Amino acid sequence: MSCLFCKIIAGEIPATKVYEDDDIVAFNDIAPQAPMHVLILPRAHVATLNDLGSEHDAIVGAIVRRAAAIAKARGYDTSGYRTVFNCNADAGQAVFHVHLHVLGGRKMAWPPG
Ligand code: AMP
Ligand code: ZN
Repeated sequence: MSCLFCKIIAGEIPATKVYEDDDIVAFNDIAPQAPMHVLILPRAHVATLNDLGSEHDAIVGAIVRRAAAIAKARGYDTSGYRTVFNCNADAGQAVFHVHLHVLGGRKMAWPPG
């Protein structure tokens, strides 16, 4: 198993987990880009958004709804927060295990860099 995030899920590499259940795991990004920077991912290895199928619909829904729940728990639901799935090189995807970035606690620019 060479995937960094699979190793974190397996407990072989430490991370500060903020949520986990049978299907998904959330932990703090090691290089936070905002006061809140959480990554939410499926336990099952899926490399990119391009590899998702209809069998993943429920898990993707759970990831997105968990992002909203974590943001709300931190008090960012009204002020706002950003969610990002990077896919492949042009988006800057560095870890090829699908993950949703959830960023909040500062004002963010648009369009993204
Ligand atoms: P992406 O560029 O969308 O693939 O995002 C990968 C993210 O994983 C980056 O924001 C990294 O800072 C983060 N990251 C890399 N290694 C770790 C780690 N060991 N623990 C937590 N987050 C990590
Ligand atoms: Zn993986």
